[in-house]
Amino acid sequence: MILENKKILIMGIRNKWSIAWGAAKSAAQQGATVLFAYHPSEKKEKILELIQEIPNAKAYECDVATDESIQNLFQNIKKDYGTIDGILHSIAHANTEDLRNDFILTSREGFSHANDISSYSFVAVARYAKEVLNPNASLVSLTYYGSTKVLEGYNVMGIAKAALEASVRYLADNLGKESIRVNAVSAGPIKTLSAKGIKDFGKILDVVEEKAPLKRNVTIEEVGNVVSFLLSDMASSITGQIIYADNGYNIMGI
Ligand code: NAP
Repeated sequence: MILENKKILIMGIRNKWSIAWGAAKSAAQQGATVLFAYHPSEKKEKILELIQEIPNAKAYECDVATDESIQNLFQNIKKDYGTIDGILHSIAHANTEDLRNDFILTSREGFSHANDISSYSFVAVARYAKEVLNPNASLVSLTYYGSTKVLEGYNVMGIAKAALEASVRYLADNLGKESIRVNAVSAGPIKTLSAKGIKDFGKILDVVEEKAPLKRNVTIEEVGNVVSFLLSDMASSITGQIIYADNGYNIMGI
């Protein structure tokens, strides 16, 4: 088991379709103690019920829109666990209209919101987490192909993911001195609540199934396994990278 004796924080659990849930199940199967951070909402009870499936899991509220909430999260984790060994940041948000209209119509507020929640939050998490991270800790975020290629309807989220991927590289450089690694997994498209906000998402799934070398779409369990690998010491030489878990779709020309 590659995560035995490791404490892993999974941020961004919403329901059983969330990529964060696939990652949590994989981390638990690989021997980790799993901690969760979830966005406080009326769905709280359902989330707390779901995570009971993971033995000894503990959950904390965190709204990454404020530094205060992120700081509180890590203070509480420090109190309860002392230190941890890894974090998955599986969080993104954009205003619905910015995923429906042409990109050129993105408002200043919409641009700033998408980048704040989906990209800057990873930088803030890394900063406040630093004091609870063990040596050789690993930070992982989730990104998408729309960071480098134009996909109709992905719009401002593509810009946020490009900033997130650049942040991965700068954070990897900053934290490397402390033996902390930082990477992102670029997952293939998966039908989750967030993905439902993207116009014609079903068409993207069909194209991937037809054109990806493996001729199918990825699952949250498969992406979760790649996350577990990056969180583990098996990936001790990998930092600052964007690792594709997309059944090979990104290598295709047309
Ligand atoms: P998801 O289940 O909807 O997860 C997104 C999570 O972000 C939700 O738990 C959401 O909570 C949380 N979140 C949004 N605003 C937040 C805030 N201010 N503070 C804390 N949490 C907040 O969808 P998902 O597809 O698994 O997305 C997880 C990550 O994978 C995202 O970064 C996404 O861009 C990335 N990704 C997804 C795909 C895909 O096709 N699904 C592909 C590649 C990468 P609430 O819903 O309660 O706000």
